Amino acid sequence: MEQINWQQLSRQLADWRAAIHRYPELSHQERVTTDYIIRQLSPFGALEISCPAATGVVVRLRGAHPGRTLAFRADIDALPVEEKTGLACASTRPGLMHACGHDMHTAMLMGAASVLAQQQASIHGEILFIFQRGEEMSPGGAKELVASGVLAGAEMFFALHVLPSLPCGTLALKRGIATANRDTFNISIQGRGGHSAMPHLTLDPLIAATQAVQALQSIVAREIDPRESAVISVCSLICGDGTTAAIPNEARLCGTTRTFTPEVRAQIKAAIARIVQGVAQAHRCQARVIFDEWDYSAIINDDRLCDIASAAARSLGAFYAQSAPAFVGEDFSEYQAIAPVCFAWLGVANGEGEQPALHNSFFNPCEDALLHGTRYYLALARKLVMS
Ligand SMILES: [Zn+2]
Ligand SMILES: [Zn+2]
Repeated sequence: MEQINWQQLSRQLADWRAAIHRYPELSHQERVTTDYIIRQLSPFGALEISCPAATGVVVRLRGAHPGRTLAFRADIDALPVEEKTGLACASTRPGLMHACGHDMHTAMLMGAASVLAQQQASIHGEILFIFQRGEEMSPGGAKELVASGVLAGAEMFFALHVLPSLPCGTLALKRGIATANRDTFNISIQGRGGHSAMPHLTLDPLIAATQAVQALQSIVAREIDPRESAVISVCSLICGDGTTAAIPNEARLCGTTRTFTPEVRAQIKAAIARIVQGVAQAHRCQARVIFDEWDYSAIINDDRLCDIASAAARSLGAFYAQSAPAFVGEDFSEYQAIAPVCFAWLGVANGEGEQPALHNSFFNPCEDALLHGTRYYLALARKLVMS
């Protein structure tokens, strides 16, 4: 890859990222972003561009020689967050922002596709570049791509996600379990409303709901093996409309759980249902507990791919072996249905000190990381389909 002009590539990556950042689009609505990726990659004749879903792009690069099929995945969607960074490339769409760095992911993968398209003659096998829609919103865009069959034949999947708590350009990798099972629950507690001065004639769902919130916290503290990890967060309690004259009919709760194993996942779901039903019954109310069927499973990084990825990362300089998995949910895990996967974090800390987190209005990743990400993909391609 001696002929690559890294400075020029770095500028190109920053331009792509800025253009995508200026026009964030919500999950499953990434039409302008999809058109932009197609328009920018079309001049590279070797790339076969397709759109298997309403938005998002899958690009295939067939090498000159037979060999393995390697897949790289970036996600392309933004979030309903108001940007407050004041950057020159800040969002032009009120209330929307690329606050999870998917603009960075997209630009880095465009960079890898554009470079490798010019090296088709030395590629043994195929490379798939997946620009996936809708990561932030269940059911996610990965599941439909897996079901569509367009990725059939892929033998390994790699992805990067930016992380502001790591120094810019550092790659971090966790062998085995890398992210959590993410489940979402919706609870409805039905009582019987009435006059607030005559509570004996009502069945108060608010009393049941607030006790349920407290009782759910005992699951992690008292039911889960302390050597395991789990999170239960009740994030919303909706009950009543502000009036003090009436006791409402219904209370609604929603929240999320995070676990690392299928056993703890099942245990927590059963315990939530049991406790909510029991508390509701104690207060003569009815409860309904629904778990979102589309939630994301944990990413299990493949050992062999981790070895290859850490060698690629080490060859670029900073590398960090993570000891603990992250509690986030990621639909990159869906690709495990096809082949082994490897998910790595890319540091994007902007200078020293505390950094605005992912999904924060002030999130401002260091642009220098773009070139590191693209070079990581290029190093993987070199190791896997170019030697
Ligand atoms: Zn996110
Ligand atoms: Zn993300």
